[in-house]
Amino acid sequence: MALNVIKKAIEEGKMRCPECKGSVKQFDKYVETCDSVWDGAGDSGLETKGAKVTLICGNGSCEWRERTEYWSEYIDD
Ligand SMILES: [Zn+2]
Repeated sequence: MALNVIKKAIEEGKMRCPECKGSVKQFDKYVETCDSVWDGAGDSGLETKGAKVTLICGNGSCEWRERTEYWSEYIDD
């Protein structure tokens, strides 16, 4: 699930803010952008797509936030 990937990336400090280069601290407004039926089959790489979130930096005075479907581009592996 995309939500789990996002949560994990934030918890592990891998979601990077492009402004201050710090780790993004929060996200908001999670939306599934497709209504595919979850069949319970488990992890598939394709399931990490299809979600829209607002990423919120939250570092010091940094005001960066972004509503995006392409949140995976901010994950630093
Ligand atoms: Zn920032």
